[in-house]
Amino acid sequence: MKLEYASKYNKKTIAVFVKKTECKKHDLSSSESEHEKIFKCLLNDKNYTTCMPYAIAENDGKRILFVTYSEVKSYENETWKMAGHNLLKAMKDNHIKNIDVDLSSLAPETYSSLCLGMLLSSYSFTKYFGEKKLSCLHIIDSITLVSSDKKNTETAIKSAQNVYQHVAWARDMINEPSNAVYPETFVSIAKKECKSRNIKVTTIDMKQMKTLGLNGILAVNAGSKNPPAMFIGEYKNPKAKKTIVLVGKGVTFDSGGMSLKPADSMVTMKDDMGGAAAVCGALFLLADKQVNANIIAIAPLTDNKTGSGAQNPGDIIKMYNGTTVEVLNTDAEGRIILGDALAYGVKKYKPDYIIDIATLTGACPVALGKHASGLMGNDKKLIEAIKEAGDTTYERVWELPMFSEYKDQLKSQVGDIVNTGGRGAGTIVAGFFLSNFIDETKWAHIDIAGTAFLDAPHNYLPQGATGVGVRLLTKMVKNLIK
Ligand SMILES: [Zn+2]
Repeated sequence: MKLEYASKYNKKTIAVFVKKTECKKHDLSSSESEHEKIFKCLLNDKNYTTCMPYAIAENDGKRILFVTYSEVKSYENETWKMAGHNLLKAMKDNHIKNIDVDLSSLAPETYSSLCLGMLLSSYSFTKYFGEKKLSCLHIIDSITLVSSDKKNTETAIKSAQNVYQHVAWARDMINEPSNAVYPETFVSIAKKECKSRNIKVTTIDMKQMKTLGLNGILAVNAGSKNPPAMFIGEYKNPKAKKTIVLVGKGVTFDSGGMSLKPADSMVTMKDDMGGAAAVCGALFLLADKQVNANIIAIAPLTDNKTGSGAQNPGDIIKMYNGTTVEVLNTDAEGRIILGDALAYGVKKYKPDYIIDIATLTGACPVALGKHASGLMGNDKKLIEAIKEAGDTTYERVWELPMFSEYKDQLKSQVGDIVNTGGRGAGTIVAGFFLSNFIDETKWAHIDIAGTAFLDAPHNYLPQGATGVGVRLLTKMVKNLIK
């Protein structure tokens, strides 16, 4: 979908944004639904055809599409992203391929969120559709933003396109099935993005993992024919005062291993590398923005399978930092690979902050559903930076308590810790597990198990991968260095 600027109208259909509440000043009976009210007030002096939340007016071969939007309380950007999404919905519903958008009633500060809402809403994953199926899709060709403010409009378009490009990249990576994206292919796809951006890439292969003692990743990988890899991308800014390491869980398929998942819960497990996609997307975006910080993205990559070498429940792993882990459940594998990656990141880069993001626990969506990611950490400033980023981007987070008593659930009879601590507080206990691998570094953990992948579309978030984390982590970095 093309998004562009023009100073004049030249398409058949023009879209105008109408604030829902402004329709209320018309004297309408309170028994009517909100939709009917808006329709009636639009009806005042022209012939309209409509269905809601938009209305269409036809006159002299011209068509005006009134797109309504309502204020998302306390979330300014979201109001405009939703307005952009409503426009896309109206275009799709009415099979409109090209449109001019009248920006004259909106403030320039709203433009970039509006553009981002349109772009996020335009995403679909159709790579594997056949010709017949593709021909049935409604494709939007172009949206032209018409205003007298060329500079602000073009800047907003460019900035939204740049953000969207990386969110879409992450969504694509996650939506790709596990026979297309596995450790080797993940690395080669991510490498391509790094090449043009002056990002240094290091890939730690299986042999190097053995030498280094990244035994957690190796143990999870033991039942798979695909070798593991650890992708590391480094963006360095010579003026940087802070080094920030982002670690993303990259389980390219999670069968659960010997503690095999039931078939139903395995269906979407190609999404278990959502954290890895998020840290890479954020790295690319931060590099494009030439952010004043050193950013290192680390993605431990493996799938979790049941091949003949697979680890068994009861096995004990000596992790990269020397901690021994008794594996009670091989399906709690994400924390094992993250433990190694975190310890490696801390030792190698001595960062000011280390943040991990992962589709880590089924307990997280039980607690928070799909509208918030779980958050834990050991540093107030970092936690606040993430919360603020969550509110700004609407990739909202909710902090979970790190009461020391929860730690007891990780006690092992035969090793230092177990990898799973029973059903209670599963998300928190997983976070405590990770805290064994960070030394004294300022750290936060974001659990996106509920937010990374949706069964059904929700506003501008499509069915399947949402790309959550790309915008959140980028904004977090900006908050940390301001
Ligand atoms: Zn698992």
